[in-house]
Amino acid sequence: MTEIDLLVVGSGAAGFSAALAASHAGLSVLMVEKEPLFGGTTAYSAGVIWIPANRHGRALGIPDSKEDALAYLQAEAGNRLNLELANAFLDNCNPAVEFIESHTHARYEAVPVWADYHPTRPGAAQGGRSLLPLPFDGRRLGKRFAQLRAPIRTMMAFGGMMLGRNDLPHVFRMTRSVKSAMHVAGMTVRYGVDRLGHARGTRLTNGNALIAALALSAEERGIELWLESPVVELAQTGSAVTGAVVSRNGQRQEIRARRGVVLACGGFPGDDALKQRYYGHVKAGQAHRSAPPPSNRGDGIRLGQQAGGVLAEDVAYAAAWVPVSLVPQPDGSTLPFPHFYERGKPGYIAVDPDGRRFTNESASYHDFVPAMVEACRGRPETMSWLLCDHRAIRRYGMGAIGPAPLPLGPHLRNGYLLSAASWPELAKKIGVDAGVLQDTIARFNAPAARGEDPDFGKGTDAYHRFNGDPTHKPNPCLAPLETGPFYAMKMIPGDIGTFLGLRTDGHARVLDAQGRPIGGLYAAGNDMTSVMGGTYPGAGITIGPALTFGYIAARHAAGLSA
Ligand SMILES: Cc1cc2nc3c(=O)[nH]c(=O)nc-3n(C[C@H](O)[C@H](O)[C@H](O)COP(=O)(O)OP(=O)(O)OC[C@H]3O[C@@H](n4cnc5c(N)ncnc54)[C@H](O)[C@@H]3O)c2cc1C
Repeated sequence: MTEIDLLVVGSGAAGFSAALAASHAGLSVLMVEKEPLFGGTTAYSAGVIWIPANRHGRALGIPDSKEDALAYLQAEAGNRLNLELANAFLDNCNPAVEFIESHTHARYEAVPVWADYHPTRPGAAQGGRSLLPLPFDGRRLGKRFAQLRAPIRTMMAFGGMMLGRNDLPHVFRMTRSVKSAMHVAGMTVRYGVDRLGHARGTRLTNGNALIAALALSAEERGIELWLESPVVELAQTGSAVTGAVVSRNGQRQEIRARRGVVLACGGFPGDDALKQRYYGHVKAGQAHRSAPPPSNRGDGIRLGQQAGGVLAEDVAYAAAWVPVSLVPQPDGSTLPFPHFYERGKPGYIAVDPDGRRFTNESASYHDFVPAMVEACRGRPETMSWLLCDHRAIRRYGMGAIGPAPLPLGPHLRNGYLLSAASWPELAKKIGVDAGVLQDTIARFNAPAARGEDPDFGKGTDAYHRFNGDPTHKPNPCLAPLETGPFYAMKMIPGDIGTFLGLRTDGHARVLDAQGRPIGGLYAAGNDMTSVMGGTYPGAGITIGPALTFGYIAARHAAGLSA
């Protein structure tokens, strides 16, 4: 029997935040992780956090307030917004991030032009709320680096080099700017040197940088992290949770946790039965591909339910949607590539299986997928084609394909990318009516050249334009598709994590069917139902709350909040 104060289950953003805050509050902490690698979905992510009225934005002179943020959340989630959770989040997100930045190695910066996803709604910010993690040198983790979950392979250059948000403009300009060429050359040389001694690059960005920084800080504080040690059962005395059983080295090991257990297992994107129940298009028999690690199988949710917890099912959507393309792998399998941004760049449109546009391509990924589902309602397959011309693909790439000078040939040969010299020829390859596709292109091209999209308004608000190319005029999101050859890539619905989870209160305590807190049981991250009510207000709306509610849970367990 191992005895500690707080047991933290899972090693993503929520788990590390809870463990570090608890340790700094004087509690003894044990973290357990089911997988041989730590970091969970967070290590796959961009690591961006949505933190209204944060000090980085303030330092740049960006005005913001809790009141504006609350008005925006109300405009987004309507009566699905749980005010107790929303207030807990908004009151604690800044203290949580300030704790992280002052007591761990993780650092963030504001992005002044990263607008909220519906920037014309009341209270929305035109920038500054979404914070980006600074790069981190993976070599500082020593031997532990090999145990840090690597990003999705399709999202790394050369199969192992990470690119951060701030690197991307350089990648897009590398053939047109000496400064950008030098930046990319510098990263590539570092990557080449890294590969002499490591399985992948050690210049970490995004969620990998965040997790590496938190893991180093946890190690320095002596917080133990057991890998390959899933919690299989919670221990209860009466209704209160007093510990758990962990399966370790093939043995059941009992853990007594005097102050409780934090469930931070990352929701259920890897659980087919729960997806069948809660994802409408999956229930209707449509294909879907989740981007998070398949091992996030809803363990935390089931453990919470077994202890008397209930799910908060009143969400707009059960998951955070993203369109994905499937990248063929040498062994015949495929890996998902989440299409976050390039849809918004000039020279791209998306069409339904008939060859007609159906939505604003520069809108958020969470909005794009329901539009695709709607456009395909009643058809045998839910999918869309992303189309672009040669100039666009060489400048910005497409899906997992990088811009020039990276080659297109391998992707054309394995069928990931389809190409033709003319639109009628491409129409034939993708199985749509040539006349319909030509009409679609003609209808889009003429106004696009003037910077207008009368049908869907691509490039009309600050978030769309953030996804565009700021150097492209007159509209950063619009250019006619006119320079052949032309290209097509298939996208289907996917997700980057689940929103639906355990019902909790403002202290991150799991609630039972009567709305009473279950003693000693907390949930944070995607194991708790999203404070956003199943909507997606802006970049970082899952990891921001994950860090915050992990922090809240730890402080409550330590007796630092009532
Ligand atoms: C490509 C991509 C980009 C993204 N970018 C962003 C972004 O920039 N900002 C943002 O807010 N969101 C982003 N997301 C979503 C975000 O990554 C997740 O919502 C978030 O990381 C979930 O954090 P978590 O701590 O709840 O879970 P996770 O990070 O998934 O961690 C959960 C951990 O618990 C472990 N676990 C599961 N069951 C058990 C068990 N029984 N016992 C012990 N351990 C267990 C898992 O193995 C896992 O390691 C992105 C997602 C993807 C896929």
